[in-house]
Amino acid sequence: MAGRNHLYIPGPTNVPHEVLSAMHAPMEDHRSPKFPAIFKPLLEDMKKVFRTEKGQCFIFPATGTAGWEIALTNTLNPGDKVIIYRFGQFSHLWAEMAKRLGFDVEIHQETWGKGIPLDKLEARLKEDKNHEIKAVLATHNETATGVTSDIAGVRKALDAAGHPALLFVDGVSSIASLDFRMDEWGVDGAISGSQKGFMLPAGGAFLCFSQKALKATETSQYPRCFLDLRDQMNQNKDGYTPYTPALPILYGLRKALDLLLEEGMDNVYARHHRLAEGTRRAIAAWGMKLCAHPGFESNTVSAVVVPEDKDAREVISTAFNKYNLSLGAGLSELSGKVFRIGHVGDMNDVSMLGAFAGVEMAMLDCGFDIKPGSGVAAAVEYYRSTEK
Ligand SMILES: *Cc1c(COP(=O)(O)O)cnc(C)c1O
Repeated sequence: MAGRNHLYIPGPTNVPHEVLSAMHAPMEDHRSPKFPAIFKPLLEDMKKVFRTEKGQCFIFPATGTAGWEIALTNTLNPGDKVIIYRFGQFSHLWAEMAKRLGFDVEIHQETWGKGIPLDKLEARLKEDKNHEIKAVLATHNETATGVTSDIAGVRKALDAAGHPALLFVDGVSSIASLDFRMDEWGVDGAISGSQKGFMLPAGGAFLCFSQKALKATETSQYPRCFLDLRDQMNQNKDGYTPYTPALPILYGLRKALDLLLEEGMDNVYARHHRLAEGTRRAIAAWGMKLCAHPGFESNTVSAVVVPEDKDAREVISTAFNKYNLSLGAGLSELSGKVFRIGHVGDMNDVSMLGAFAGVEMAMLDCGFDIKPGSGVAAAVEYYRSTEK
């Protein structure tokens, strides 16, 4: 098929040309005296994206899933109690991981479409007088449902309860695209990955830990080796890594950080909000609804609920086979019920309008009762009338 594939899944996201070019470079000796000059500034500049001065950043040749494991196994002890609210496939997988790793996981089921219930969390933390809960696992942006939780609110709940639990945040599909504040929100472990807001291929787990979390690595008896933060700390202080780093990811990250910081993080958040709002206007004009309940809408991904007599999988396969447009699938219990439009990373007005046009064609082909051009028109008006 002529023309490029149009990628609108919420990860991997589109990699900007400048980043692709930066990755296309010869390999080098990662133990050479020149390497720290590449590596150290990456760890420093990443702090500006996580918004921390007190925390310490880490890069593992891995993915976000490893980040979940790194947070848990470096700071806790086997059998420790952790609490998690489950409201989508990613919070589900993190909870399952914690179980498989031998932690005592207190799982609270929430409606898929809502986020962390702050009042319930606060009540539960207040009830835990003996501080048996050692960590709160919070999914900032549930990519499966397009739901964003209020992490500042989670911190407030912990503080209101005077609870010392560590706060671990899955920011894989939020950090570098949605407002995130490591220090201000008192996050102890922030977990991200290269292939979403950072606009890189998968292959980098990008993490940040507070001093409190780093202190906990000293008392953690959990067996660990490849994912041991202490080995990273020992080597990172001199600008090296305990094993071979994924060099192309590092070269790409240099460029991606330059692009993000040049745009300015507040502008990056505002752009994602604006592009997402246009998407929501288009969806409303089609007469369709988000999976996300009001107040929880994500600015990086929209999960669109199809009418009950329709199968979202058909929309996705038509979009791909006929129009070379890749949409996100409904995961697990949402399979067939939603398709997802990713609006994260290297996107602008016209790239979003292309997605809406393609989605309209695919939905019309699948017999949806929508007016051709209605979603595009709503977004055109919104984008034209709002400041970048
Ligand atoms: C993508 C994603 C992950 C998983 O990351 P991998 O890089 O695939 O391991 C975890 N959490 C959230 C919220 C995600 O969007």
